[in-house]
Amino acid sequence: MNSKILTAISLVIILLVIGFGLFTQEPDDTSGTDLVEYEDTALILDTINRVRVYATGEDEGREAVDQVFRRLEEIDDKLDIYDAESEISRINENAGTSKVEVSEGTFNLLKDSVKYARETEGDFDPTIGALTLLWGWGSVDGPSVPAQEEINDTLELVNYENISFDEDNREVGLDEEGMKLDLGAIAKGYASIESYNVLEETEIQSAFINLGGNITLKGMKPDQSPWRIGIQHPRSARGEVMAAVDVDEDNLDTSRAIVTSGDYERYFEEEGEEYHHIIDPSTGYPTTHNIISASIITDDPVKADAYSTGILVRGLEGREIIEETENMEALFISEDQEVFATSGIRDSVELFDDDFSLVDWEEITD
Ligand code: AMP
Ligand code: MG
Repeated sequence: MNSKILTAISLVIILLVIGFGLFTQEPDDTSGTDLVEYEDTALILDTINRVRVYATGEDEGREAVDQVFRRLEEIDDKLDIYDAESEISRINENAGTSKVEVSEGTFNLLKDSVKYARETEGDFDPTIGALTLLWGWGSVDGPSVPAQEEINDTLELVNYENISFDEDNREVGLDEEGMKLDLGAIAKGYASIESYNVLEETEIQSAFINLGGNITLKGMKPDQSPWRIGIQHPRSARGEVMAAVDVDEDNLDTSRAIVTSGDYERYFEEEGEEYHHIIDPSTGYPTTHNIISASIITDDPVKADAYSTGILVRGLEGREIIEETENMEALFISEDQEVFATSGIRDSVELFDDDFSLVDWEEITD
């Protein structure tokens, strides 16, 4: 049985066990409006996607959500590195040889990924693929720790500056043989903005898009109260929330995304050590610092997704990048159960678990 089928089976089991309770909120108040809440869940992009819209009727809601799910299937076909026919697989296949023509969406996503790699000084790097493959993520046998020599050799194949673009022919190539793209760190962000754009084409004004924990909001809630987003407990069962943050924009006329990266999302154990799925492109190993979860809030879900991964790699020093970036808020959780939130959201963070405490930047140590 291949790992994709195994992942799908385990996701279905998770869905059943938690009774569709992942990141749920209380149903929102639609009284006083003509709107009804419509929500559906689908397993696409190797994750659980839950889309909730407020529509004038059930049919309108269902039609909009189905359109979103159809778009997610199309994205999966283009980006899936485990599907030999996908656009990303064809680029990987031709690394060091030739460029490959891709769709406009993929072309622009890859250009954005290079931009975010530069902004995070390579902590987020879309050419991490050769390393994720070496660690065995997604392989039939599952992940294991590679030999140091293999890591050293593979590190040479990770460099976002070696992605080449041909604007005229909309072609993308990897300059070195053996290089591999892995868009795992931004695929859900891209799927989120595409979902948002699908809804922009409909009459839906208000929506809560949750693609495997990557959350994107459209418009205000029908009762005009703030959206309240749960933050996953980094050391407890999936779906257990240890904090909530209000996303309360005066005018939510663009998308608003809250995306979390955590060392707990995928990991394995070998000889008593735990190894997680987010790799520091400068060492070739999973990060080991004190920051174990980073949530980023900004208007663009792709940027939020790239930054959340990059900041988790950077650790505490990532705060400088956040402070320098306009329109971005962040919430970090440390292994020592300290929570830090930037000034724009700090007052709206509520902790549900007494083991955690809200602290200033200066009090967290790496
Ligand atoms: P996320 O959950 O968004 O942080 O994405 C994690 C996924 O991104 C991993 O499972 C890998 O496929 C990929 N990845 C791991 N490390 C990096 C990195 N430093 N830069 C970019 N992608 C990465
Ligand atoms: Mg990410």
